[in-house]
This record gives sequence, structure tokens and C-alpha cells, in this order.
Amino acid sequence: MTDVLACHDLHKSFGLTHALRGASLSVNAGEVLAVMGPSGSGKSTLLQCLAGILTPDTGAVTLDGMRVDLLGDHRRTRLRRMIFGFVFQFGQLVSELPVAENIALPLMLAGGRRRAALSAARDWLPRLGLEGLHDRLPGDLSGGQAQRVAIARALIAGPRVLFADEPTGALDSVAADQVMEVLMDEVRAQGTCVLMVTHEPRVAAYADRTVTVRDGRVVHPARGREAVL
Ligand code: ADP
Ligand code: MG
Repeated sequence: MTDVLACHDLHKSFGLTHALRGASLSVNAGEVLAVMGPSGSGKSTLLQCLAGILTPDTGAVTLDGMRVDLLGDHRRTRLRRMIFGFVFQFGQLVSELPVAENIALPLMLAGGRRRAALSAARDWLPRLGLEGLHDRLPGDLSGGQAQRVAIARALIAGPRVLFADEPTGALDSVAADQVMEVLMDEVRAQGTCVLMVTHEPRVAAYADRTVTVRDGRVVHPARGREAVL
């Protein structure tokens, strides 16, 4: 099997809330997977367990067959920085830093030199339709521009897996399409796996495959049928 990332029978509770109740999922090499499902069904919890942000109570998470849920905090943080990229609903850009510095951050955190990192960041701008915006502050960008900056930041260090939680949730449909088009161009070019939570069918339609989370479990669509929304 060519699973890059997988989880088996995950359970996760927050106090009395049993958020994940036996969730299993695998993402193949180069695959773009959309995760849909009702609000509160456990989508974000599942994504965060797979990304090593949360530790499941029981169950296994593997990256290239290695149990990452068993790693200590330090090694998991390193793994997140080196192997994963993240995009959330509200870009979470650093508001005091101009666009190019925001995009360059992962390279600098990985020990890259500032000049080279900023130069690499500037190279990303035209690819994402952001030419000329390198010295703008996040507060001066539209929502769609901010999400494209967040995508550049998430991808600049060449992650194996991109995690996106409602990446277009704050955007209108025109801006959402622009964001998805640049995201798909870049991940296809780099062969990056994507695990994308969305409640919008038009966004899920960009994915290779859609699964649905219900009551803390992953429901796989019947073979040969459209995904059940
Ligand atoms: P979704 O992303 O599908 O909307 P979540 O994974 O965010 O769902 O949440 C699943 C359930 O777990 C919900 O009932 C939610 O209220 C609860 N939950 C999620 N995160 C926390 C938390 N940090 N503390 C307490 N409850 C939480
Ligand atoms: Mg959520």
C-alpha cells in the first residue's frame, strides 16, 4: 500500500464529549482528500490527531508506516515543522509582519538564512496571483489574498502533507475558487498530499476523493457512487 498518512480506530474525548469514536482513514501518496460532515461531527479533531496537534486517547496514527502518536512532544513538533504544512479558516498570518516575511517564516524557523528565505518567498507571489504585495501587511489584504499567502507559507518548505481546515470557509465563492485553483496547481506540481476539511461541496469537488465524518467516525462512500453529502 502507498499510504502516506493513516489512522486506525481513533478515539478522543474532551471531558464528557466523545469527539472521535473509532475513526479510521488513510491518505495515499499525492492524494487530495476532502473531509466533509456536519458541524461538531469531529472533523477538526480528526485532522488535529492526524497532524500530531492532539494526541488520541486510543488508536494509532502512522506516517510512512511509523507510529507518530507515540512520539514525544519534541519530536512531534519537529515533525510538524518539517513534514507538514497548515492552512486554517482565517489565515493566521502574523499581523505585524509583511507578506514576504510571513511566507518566509517556515524557512527561517528551519534555520534558513533570512535573505534566501525572503527571496524564495518573493518567488512565490506571482505563482499565487500576489505580485507586488510583498511588503503589504496582512490587515491590508482581502480575505482571498490572505489565504493565498497562508498557502504559500504552508507550502514553501515543501511539506509531504498539507492540512487545511475550512481553508475557504471565510471567503465568497469567487475568492474560494481562486484559492483552490492556486492550491491545487501547487500541490499537484509538488506531489503534496492534502487533507482538507470543508463543508462546501464546490470546494470538495477539487479533491480526488471525499469522505464524510459522522458522530466521530469516518464514513466511506460506497464504491462507484458520488460522495454522500
Ligand atoms: P467539527 O470540526 O466537525 O465541527 P470538532 O472536531 O471541532 O467538530 O468537534 C467535535 C466535538 O468535540 C464537538 O462536540 C466539540 O464541541 C468538541 N470539542 C472539540 N474540541 C474541543 C475542545 N478543545 N474542548 C472541548 N470540546 C471540544
Ligand atoms: Mg471544525
